[in-house]
Amino acid sequence: MTSPTFARPQIAGRSFNINELADGIRAGKRALLARGITLVESTNPRHQEAASALLQELLADTGGAHRIGITGVPGVGKSTTIDQFGINLIEAGHRVAVLAVDPTSTRSGGSILGDKTRMNRLALQEHAFVRPSPTSGTLGGVARKTRETMALAEAAGFDIVIVETVGVGQSEVTVADMVDIFLVLLLPGGGDELQGIKKGIIEIADILAINKADGENRDRAERSAAEYRTALHLLTPTHATWQPPVLTISGLANEGLDKLWEQISEHRDRLTAEGAFEERRREQAVRWMHDMLNDALKSLLTGNPSIRTALHEAEQAVRSGHQAPSAAVIDLMKLVRDQHGVEEDASGTPTSPSPKTENTQ
Ligand code: GDP
Repeated sequence: MTSPTFARPQIAGRSFNINELADGIRAGKRALLARGITLVESTNPRHQEAASALLQELLADTGGAHRIGITGVPGVGKSTTIDQFGINLIEAGHRVAVLAVDPTSTRSGGSILGDKTRMNRLALQEHAFVRPSPTSGTLGGVARKTRETMALAEAAGFDIVIVETVGVGQSEVTVADMVDIFLVLLLPGGGDELQGIKKGIIEIADILAINKADGENRDRAERSAAEYRTALHLLTPTHATWQPPVLTISGLANEGLDKLWEQISEHRDRLTAEGAFEERRREQAVRWMHDMLNDALKSLLTGNPSIRTALHEAEQAVRSGHQAPSAAVIDLMKLVRDQHGVEEDASGTPTSPSPKTENTQ
């Protein structure tokens, strides 16, 4: 890769060269990985430009990790389980990065995943890297930063990346779309628990694990597992050759986590054998590109003062009932085409004049 041509970016008063930063990340230097992530998370346009150059420079070094998504309601035991699971993996010779996706931290000022230091034991391990959720942006923005952080962690040699999310809104779907396998943690409970679970989450799960299967909860957890197995048979599997297993685990007592790892590895082996593992990643990469393109087009529009004004006026016209949303879009698109000199071919959207309304704005 050639050297980028922009000025040396500054973070915390220090300037550095993208190639030096990339070399440091490749060498697994944590301080430089953290600095790279700071660039990725920054909203400063110069930092963003530098982050893109860094990601491009490191592209060939990414993709090496097994990417595992984990979700579950607050209190189900995500941090306890990831803490223990991560330590087990490190003991088996892996290097583990844990990232979080929590768009609520941007809305409420306090995150559901918690600002407290989580995964205390894992965070202290030399071969672990624990990063909280980026705290600015929409779900799309947070997801993009997390994907880019994942790429940097892979370039730094982490061979397992765990992405954690609370199932809020669409965040679990977003995370499922950036990982190789998606794990849903559940609490032991009676039959009615089943109805409380968002069906959509179960449908995107590759593995279900009933946590807290210890002490007095053990039997209840086994009964829940049996109920989930029955329920899963009624759903279409996420993949033709993979029926999601339902396991019982205890993150606290470190029980069942070996079996969990076995299943995660089995899933990878099975999908790899039929080419579906790489196929899933390729499709994710294309969807990612489309997401970023949508974002870029939107900021191109809102960055243009006359389009921004027209958009604002259109919002008012639609809100007051003076203009139909479809008519507003046609007018706005005409303005966009005029401004950006975009030609439309015969197969494009209709170019006929928009229906006139009584709106005079
Ligand atoms: P999170 O909000 O999903 O990250 O959940 P935490 O990991 O913070 O756990 C919530 C509570 O459940 C804590 O008090 C944990 O000690 C407890 N907990 C987590 N895992 C287990 C488990 O496997 N067994 C038992 N008995 N308690 C657990």
